[in-house]
Amino acid sequence: MDCYASWGGYNDRMERDIAYILIARDRIERRVRELAREISEVYGDDSQGLVIVPVLSGSIIFLADLIRCLPFKMKIGLMTISRYRGTSTSGGDTRLIQDLNVDIRNRHVLVVDDILDTGNTLRLVRSQLQQRGPASLRVCVLLRKLAKAPKDVLAEFVGFDIDDSFVVGYGLDYADHYRNWPDIGVLRPELYT
Ligand code: 5GP
Ligand code: MG
Repeated sequence: MDCYASWGGYNDRMERDIAYILIARDRIERRVRELAREISEVYGDDSQGLVIVPVLSGSIIFLADLIRCLPFKMKIGLMTISRYRGTSTSGGDTRLIQDLNVDIRNRHVLVVDDILDTGNTLRLVRSQLQQRGPASLRVCVLLRKLAKAPKDVLAEFVGFDIDDSFVVGYGLDYADHYRNWPDIGVLRPELYT
C-alpha cells in the first residue's frame, strides 16, 4: 500500500521530520510474512483457540498486517500498557491502563508488541497474563534493541534486531505522532532534544 506518498500540498508531511529510514516498508512486509509462517509452524494444532493479545497502542499496524497472514481462527484480547508520556527516551514507568477483556484460562496466548527495549513492558504483561492460567504464553515483537533487552524477558518471535536509536513509524510514535508513517525511521534529533 503506497497511498499518499505522492500526494502534494500538505505542510505537515511526516517525511520532513524523519532523518532516515531504518527499515523500509517492503522489507517490513516480507519479514511480517515470514514471521506469520514461523508462528503458524510453531503452533500447529495448538493454534485452535489461540488468543492474540496486542500491547496497545504501538502494535496496531504490525498486528493488523501479521494476523491477516495467519490462516487459523483466533480471538483478539485487548489490554493497554503505557510507558512513555510524550517524551521519547525518558522514564521507565510502565503501567497497566486497561485490563484484558477476554478469558485466557487454558488458552494458547500470543502477545504481540512493537518493540522490546528495557523489557519492563513485557515483564509486566507476561506476569499479568501468566496469573490467568493460559495453556501457553509466547511473545512476538516486531523490533528488539538487542544491546538493551534483558536476558530474563524473552520474545519467542522477533522481526528485526536494531541498534539503540529511537524509531518511529509503522505503529511506533513520538508524542502520539508518526504511527501512520509506513516505514520505520529515525526522527531528526532536534525534534526531541
Ligand atoms: P520497554 O518496556 O521494553 O523498555 O519498552 C517497550 C515500549 O517502549 C515499547 O512498546 C514502545 O512503546 C516504547 N519504546 C521503546 N523503544 C522505543 C523506540 O525506539 N521508539 C518508540 N516510538 N517507542 C519505543
Ligand atoms: Mg508498546
